[in-house]
Amino acid sequence: MKCCYRERSKIIPVRPTEQPKTSREFTELFWGEALTCGVCKQTFTLRQHEVVAYCGGCYKFLHCGIAGKCVGPNCSFQIRGETYKQTWCQACIPTQYLINLYHTGSPECDCLCHECAEDPNTHKKYKRIQTN
Ligand SMILES: [Zn+2]
Ligand SMILES: [Zn+2]
Ligand SMILES: [Zn+2]
Repeated sequence: MKCCYRERSKIIPVRPTEQPKTSREFTELFWGEALTCGVCKQTFTLRQHEVVAYCGGCYKFLHCGIAGKCVGPNCSFQIRGETYKQTWCQACIPTQYLINLYHTGSPECDCLCHECAEDPNTHKKYKRIQTN
């Protein structure tokens, strides 16, 4: 029917403009959407989570320039029964920690974000600081 068609064509996909409250909300929001890497401009979806992530600090989508996944308790969350860890870009992590100094470029690499570095629940073995 014509009227139905017209109604449907009026629906414009809207991206949320508000900052999501949690990393989990953010991931669920964009799950399945085609996203552009903030660094190389290639397009991926979050479903391909071995290569695609977004940074928990600057919220840029990344498949390169990745520091790794934060080992801290604030960056671990569940989506549909699976555990995910928040990924961070190399620009957003505190570089005084040894764990953050050895980027392999792999999204599976460990890192530590500012928030978890200050969290007493984060194991201190991750908080070793570079000494000269
Ligand atoms: Zn990229
Ligand atoms: Zn970042
Ligand atoms: Zn963290």
